[in-house]
Amino acid sequence: MMDNGYDYDVVVVGGGPCGSTISTLVAMQGHRVLLLEKERFPRYQIGESLLPSTVHGICRILGVEEDLRRANFMPKRGGTFRWGANPEPWTFSFGLSSKFAGDAATAYQVERMRFDQILLDNARRKGVEVREETSVVDVLVDADTDRVNGVLLSGPDGVRREVRSRFVVDASGNKSRIHTRVGGQRRYSEFFRNLALFGYFEGGKRLPAPNRGNILAVAFDAGWFWYIPLTDELTSVGAVLMPEALDRAQGDREKALLDLIQQCPMIAEYLSDARRVTEGPYGEIRVRKDYSYIQEKFWRPGLVLAGDAACFIDPVFSSGVHLATYSALLAARSINTVLRGGEVDETTCFEEFEVRYRREYARFHDFLVAFYDMHQDENSYFWKAKKVTNNVASEVESFVELVGGGSSNEAALVSPANGGRRGAAYQELAEMVAQPVQEAGEDRDLLRSTLARSVSKEGTRIQIQAELGESTDENIPVRDGGLVPSTDGLHWSTPPQPAG
Ligand code: FAD
Repeated sequence: MMDNGYDYDVVVVGGGPCGSTISTLVAMQGHRVLLLEKERFPRYQIGESLLPSTVHGICRILGVEEDLRRANFMPKRGGTFRWGANPEPWTFSFGLSSKFAGDAATAYQVERMRFDQILLDNARRKGVEVREETSVVDVLVDADTDRVNGVLLSGPDGVRREVRSRFVVDASGNKSRIHTRVGGQRRYSEFFRNLALFGYFEGGKRLPAPNRGNILAVAFDAGWFWYIPLTDELTSVGAVLMPEALDRAQGDREKALLDLIQQCPMIAEYLSDARRVTEGPYGEIRVRKDYSYIQEKFWRPGLVLAGDAACFIDPVFSSGVHLATYSALLAARSINTVLRGGEVDETTCFEEFEVRYRREYARFHDFLVAFYDMHQDENSYFWKAKKVTNNVASEVESFVELVGGGSSNEAALVSPANGGRRGAAYQELAEMVAQPVQEAGEDRDLLRSTLARSVSKEGTRIQIQAELGESTDENIPVRDGGLVPSTDGLHWSTPPQPAG
């Protein structure tokens, strides 16, 4: 137990992309983090198509870019859509936006069993204590202060135990059993009330080069299909059904999926020589209600919701892992700032997290409402993206920025090559923080706290500040009295005062 009566600074519930990201970014600051995951990894999860903001932004800060390269995931240059009034498929590439030019123009299609394992292993390497097969049953609340101060867990032996911490993060996804403890309700969208039915195929066709790794989305009368090439052989195929077509998913799942494929000529053609995988983790045909929702509150003292535990939006633009990992970064900044102590109070820090997370969610939500109007063509969708994001760039660039996860003007979400010198500084700093933790062995606790102190030293801040200047967009708060990312990218700061 720590001398302040807590066992840990932070307990993170859930080891998906959100939980791994937040726990790593907090542990990188030398804080004690316990991550509790219900399953034993690798475990199956849907959500296989990633955005550049995750691959070249968050994964770079986490220090897993090289691990991802070695994993040989399918490169994804963009998306191909048979959608809207245009009867012909149309394609966009991430490289159309200056934010994702060069190497950063390619994201990945990932098998989530492998991707989530990479992030969780990395969390361990960066000092997070990870316990798998450990389920959180409830949060603990201090009766005097009403502050959440720990969790009740059930370990592999089935025995229930209490663990105390200064913060609890709910990153346990859409099935979270503790999200209600934050207060308020989960509000379901009236508009997006779909159902997904999905399985895996071997031997499906590929789009012609250079787009063979693109996600293919094809609308048909009952909804739309995703077609995601995971390897040369393996394809993830799912039908997303509108509420009025839900009866087509009734009965035998295999028959329902195969029938739906036949109702969508382009997907039927792509799968004409393919066979359905019937064994192993990809052998099951699964159903998910992908209803969109958002919790009325994202935090209360001691408890914060991030990733799918807080909100989820329709999967057509593959924004789930982006929202999960970006919200993890925002929440990590709030926790790191409070744990460091000093100028900014807890309420202001967590309000900043919530405002920014809601903004990013709202951008996708508002755009998607227009995107589901099938009577428009792609130029009208691009125009809508520009409007929703209030972007000065062209219509098509605004669209690509949005669907690549780059609309928030966060240097943390783009590669150093496209984020300017500030992006490069993030990378340098992430490497500085990460390196000794990997090498420290037995003494790593001591080294971590020494390192965290040295990184937050005023000298380092001033040096980076001088290097970067103060004129980037990031230094403009998104609301009155709001905060901006610190120079190390992992805390909040009060914005610099305008000169004169
Ligand atoms: P999760 O990935 O759900 O991780 C939560 C973890 O918490 C799990 O490992 C779970 O075992 C654990 N857990 C749960 N309860 C407890 C507990 N009580 N105690 C301890 N651990 C617990 N996103 C994309 O980016 N691209 C896509 O192409 C895409 N396609 C999708 C298609 C469909 C049909 C749907 C429904 C979603 C799709 N998504 C996609 C969204 C994506 O699946 C999620 O947004 C993403 O997985 C959220 O990450 P997370 O870390 O918040 O939660």
